[in-house]
Amino acid sequence: MTQGRPPLNRRLAEFGTTIFAEMSALAVRTGSINLGQGFPDTDGPEEIREAAVRALRAGLGNQYPPGPGIPELRTAIAEHQQRRYGLAHDPDTEVLVTAGATEAIAAALLALLEPGDEVIALEPYYDSYAACVAMAGGSRVPVTLRPDATTGTYRLDLDELRAAVTPRTRLILLNTPHNPTGTVLTREELGAIAALACERDLLVVTDEVYEHLVFEGEHLPLAGFPGMRERTVTISSAGKTYSFTGWKVGWVTADAPLVAAVRTAKQYLTYVSAGPFQYAIAEALRLPDTYFDNLRADLRRKRDLLGDGLRAAGFEVYEPQGTYFITTDISPLGEEDAYAFCRALPERCGVVAIPNSVFYDSPDAGRSQVRFTFCKKDDLLQEAASRLRRLAS
Ligand code: PMP
Ligand code: GLN
Repeated sequence: MTQGRPPLNRRLAEFGTTIFAEMSALAVRTGSINLGQGFPDTDGPEEIREAAVRALRAGLGNQYPPGPGIPELRTAIAEHQQRRYGLAHDPDTEVLVTAGATEAIAAALLALLEPGDEVIALEPYYDSYAACVAMAGGSRVPVTLRPDATTGTYRLDLDELRAAVTPRTRLILLNTPHNPTGTVLTREELGAIAALACERDLLVVTDEVYEHLVFEGEHLPLAGFPGMRERTVTISSAGKTYSFTGWKVGWVTADAPLVAAVRTAKQYLTYVSAGPFQYAIAEALRLPDTYFDNLRADLRRKRDLLGDGLRAAGFEVYEPQGTYFITTDISPLGEEDAYAFCRALPERCGVVAIPNSVFYDSPDAGRSQVRFTFCKKDDLLQEAASRLRRLAS
C-alpha cells in the first residue's frame, strides 16, 4: 500500500476474481466435472480450424490486422446480418471487429457513458457488465427477471423496466438470449423495450452472443425494431456460435456514428487482436444454414438430457429457451445458499456449477439459484447427472 491507499481503485473495489475463474479453478483442483464456465468440450468445425492454420501459414494476420478488423470478416459479418435478419450494414463504417464480445461491451460502455450516467441491465446479469459500467464511471440500475409460474421461465416485468428509467438513464444494456436464465425475449417484449428507448431517447447496447442458440421462439435483433437502428449497438461473438471461445473474435454492428464512437475506445484497449482467426471466422460466417440447424439440434438434445438429470436429482429446473445454460433452484434439495452449495458441490459429488447469486444486486433474488452448462459431451452430462443424484439420497 502506498500513500495509505489500496492498489485497486474505488471503481473496481467491489470486484474480485470472476466467478468463472474461481469455479473453473475449483474444478481443476478437485478433478470435478466442470459444468460451470460455459465453454464447449468439443471444438468447432474442423474446416474452420484448418482455415485458421491456412491463414497462419500463409502469413495472413500474423502482423497487426487493420484496426476495425480485416475487410473479409467485416464483409462476412455484414452479409450475415443481411441474410439472417434483413439488416443492411456498410462493412467499412458500420461493422467493428473486437477481442470477443467482452471487449465490445467494454468499448461500448467506455465510449457511450459519461460519469454518473445510469445503465439499466437485466438482473441476473453477466458479470462483466457490472465491471464495465463501473470502469466507465456509470451507475448500474438492475431490473430483475423473475420466474414465471405459468411458463416455467424467467420473464421481464415491463412495468419495472419503465419505472427504472430516470432522467439520468443513458442506456439499456440488454442480453437476449439471456445468460444465465436462458430467457429469449419475445417480439412483444422487444417491441416494448424499443418503444421505451425511443420515448425516453435512450441508447441500447444489446448482447446477442447466443443469437444462434435458440430452442423455442426465435431470436429477433433489437436493431430491427422501429426507431432502433440509430440508437442500438449490437454485439455478437464467434465464441458461442462456432465453439471457439479461446479465439476471442467478437463484433459490433451499428450505425456509423455509434461504431465510430465504440471504435475510438476500442483502439486504446487492444487496438487489434486474433489476426489469423479473423480469416477463419470470415469463412465460418459463410457456413450453410445446416451448420446452425445442427448446432441447435445437438444443444437442444443436450439441454433435455441435462434438464432431465437435474430434475431427477431433485432440482427445480427453469427450462431455457436459448443459450447453453440451465438455471435451477436448489430449495427443493433443502438448500438455500447457492454460493455455499457450489463451493461444497465438488466434495459432495464431483461436479462444479455457478451460483447465480453473484449476478444480482438484490441480495435475495438469486440466493438459491444455480447454473449448469450443457455444452459438453453426452457421456459427461450423463455422468454429472448420475453424480448429482447422490444429493437426493
Ligand atoms: N456476453 C455474454 C452474455 C456471455 O455469456 C459471454 C461469455 N462467453 C460474453 C458476452 C463474452 O463473450 P466473448 O467470449 O466473445 O468475449
Ligand atoms: N460466458 C461464459 C459463461 O457465462 C464465461 C466467460 C468467461 O469466463 N469470462 O460461462
